[in-house]
Amino acid sequence: MSGPNVLILGAPGAGKGTQSSNIADEFGVEHVTTGDALRANKDMDISHMDAEYDIPRAYMDAGELVPDEVVNEIVKTALAEADGYVLDGYPRNLSQAKYLDGITDLDIVVYLGVDKNELVGRLTGRRVCDECGANYHVEFNPPEEEGVCDECGGDLTQRDDDTEETVRERITVYEENTEPVIERYEEEGDLVRVDGEQTPDEVWADVRDAIESEA
Ligand code: ADP
Ligand code: AMP
Repeated sequence: MSGPNVLILGAPGAGKGTQSSNIADEFGVEHVTTGDALRANKDMDISHMDAEYDIPRAYMDAGELVPDEVVNEIVKTALAEADGYVLDGYPRNLSQAKYLDGITDLDIVVYLGVDKNELVGRLTGRRVCDECGANYHVEFNPPEEEGVCDECGGDLTQRDDDTEETVRERITVYEENTEPVIERYEEEGDLVRVDGEQTPDEVWADVRDAIESEA
């Protein structure tokens, strides 16, 4: 049997990446994340799309959304290749949600709820391994040795867009574009809410239970 098709939603910093790794390990599904895919292709030439900027990096550094056409294509290709997935970072607006409806069937939508006041501290303190992508926090989830990944010994760095100014812009973009997506899944009755302000292990216990009972 193929793995479940999971969509994980929440504000920037809600813990989607952290919990997606757990889901991918536990259920043997692919972690499909538009943020990582775009970071690996930041300087891709998209000038033919006649959009505001010519490369994804310009949108990302400003905290804005990369054009739908770019992310829709990334997700379509990744989902076609996956035998079960956890989708993280997409859809971020209603048009992307509509596109997603046409290319896949979701088994469960999990929403991680975290108060806005908590998000800035989570994101400015985030550190990510350059080698394996493992995720840390200087205060809430520190590595054993400062700046060094526990998993693979790689260097831990701060993402370019995890500065306070860009984080605030990303939260505004989320409120304007992505909150309507969450309302839509809620109205359709597909959304399971999890309290994302618990410890990472407690959040994981709730997420795992939700997937086991719904998917
Ligand atoms: P997202 O993918 O939703 O942007 P991340 O999973 O990258 O969020 O988490 C953002 C930051 O918050 C990271 O530094 C992570 O270590 C930390 N974090 C994740 N879950 C929790 C939690 N339950 N409590 C406190 N900090 C957390
Ligand atoms: P993330 O890693 O999910 O925090 O995403 C980082 C940045 O990548 C965002 O601020 C956007 O600029 C871009 N991005 C990621 N996913 C999407 C998406 N679904 N639609 C548009 N832009 C995206």
